[in-house]
Amino acid sequence: MGVLEDLGSTLDGELLTPGESRYNDARRPGIARFRDVHPRAVVRCATVRDVVRTVAFARDTGTQVVPRGGGHCFAGRSSTSDGVVLDLGRLRTISVEGHGRAVIESGARLGQVYDVLHQHGQTLPVGCGLTVGVAGLTLGGGLGLLGRRHGLTCDSLVSAQVVLPDGRLVDCDADREPDLFWALRGAGGGQLGVVTSFAFTTVPEPHATHFEATWPEANAAEVIAAWQSWAPDAPDDITANLTVTTEPGHPLQVVVSGAAVRDVDATLSLLNQLTALADHHGELRVMEGMPHSELKRSIAMPDAREHHRGASGRSELFSSTLPDTVVTALLDGLTTDQTRGRRHLSFFALGGAYNRVDSDATGVRPSHPEVPAGPPRRRRRRRRVDRPLVGDRPPTRHRPRLLELP
Ligand SMILES: Cc1cc2nc3c(=O)[nH]c(=O)nc-3n(C[C@H](O)[C@H](O)[C@H](O)COP(=O)(O)OP(=O)(O)OC[C@H]3O[C@@H](n4cnc5c(N)ncnc54)[C@H](O)[C@@H]3O)c2cc1C
Repeated sequence: MGVLEDLGSTLDGELLTPGESRYNDARRPGIARFRDVHPRAVVRCATVRDVVRTVAFARDTGTQVVPRGGGHCFAGRSSTSDGVVLDLGRLRTISVEGHGRAVIESGARLGQVYDVLHQHGQTLPVGCGLTVGVAGLTLGGGLGLLGRRHGLTCDSLVSAQVVLPDGRLVDCDADREPDLFWALRGAGGGQLGVVTSFAFTTVPEPHATHFEATWPEANAAEVIAAWQSWAPDAPDDITANLTVTTEPGHPLQVVVSGAAVRDVDATLSLLNQLTALADHHGELRVMEGMPHSELKRSIAMPDAREHHRGASGRSELFSSTLPDTVVTALLDGLTTDQTRGRRHLSFFALGGAYNRVDSDATGVRPSHPEVPAGPPRRRRRRRRVDRPLVGDRPPTRHRPRLLELP
């Protein structure tokens, strides 16, 4: 019996190797471009003990082990062709305790998190992809529609249980293993140990109004200028993301979409500030009065498995308004090469509670680069920010209202 099979025989879960019928399904991550990566084995953990055993196996044999939560890492870091994928997907129990504290096992996906917390009248500021794992999201920071109000997902983390590379199982928080706890809040997954569960402080689930405003092609630069002068300083309870989309054979699309924890009239009066600045006719679609969890479900992005194989992206953080020259260069870059399929330019306003945590309090916040004075140069990738928080699947119970922008 080989060493891998030895590991398999000790597990409460299972170890799948090439040639076994379920190996192919188990090895494939959520992101299409990494579907052809073949690990030596996939360990599907059934218990925390399985995680401890697999990490001890890695330590004793020098085998590379990569943890996988939801398998949606854009960089493919939960796949390996040299080692073993440690799939935590079966560890997904969520319990809500007194004072709204939620303990979430690290294989849980966001759709399940929303649903279970909703049953308790609570929620978390997490992201929009329902199949995204809470593990990768939290360990990388976590942006979402409630972020301007409550901060990054990792800002709500109060403790975590982690299997360290030496095989020890530890609880960490602000007092126990504080350096590890600092890094777990946003410094990225898979490097410091394997998290088996997270404890979060939840917030009461609000009702929200979802909106989507579209503008005609010619106004992209003007809408961007209006958005830049309005969105970063808008109240914390509104998140309005701007996306410019180009696709061969289609006109340029400019959309501002998001949600406000306000009723529809209060939301519209805020949006009027933006539309007055952009000064153009467009169309506004709103869905009002939804619990936050339902709103998330209605605007969730398609499952990552549907994403195009060649899809890729990059992001930058800016601490001040982009000059017109930069916006022009970005739009030129987006529109000149029409051979490259569908492409997006997205803007998120990360003000509000995102900025109310000290920059050295957690592992997530890089220093802000200066806005370049001229057209953007090729720069080293910093950290990837999420995909645009838009979608178009209104639930039947909340029919969208179509309005003309002033
Ligand atoms: C459709 C889609 C929608 C998205 N929406 C948002 C959004 O709204 N907001 C946002 O902020 N981001 C969003 N993202 C980005 C997403 O948060 C990241 O890609 C995240 O890393 C995915 O987490 P995962 O657990 O699914 O991924 P995985 O690939 O499983 O893991 C990501 C990284 O974390 C490590 N890791 C996983 N589990 C553990 C563990 N238990 N212990 C230690 N390390 C671990 C992995 O090894 C890998 O390095 C979205 C991505 C997609 C594909």
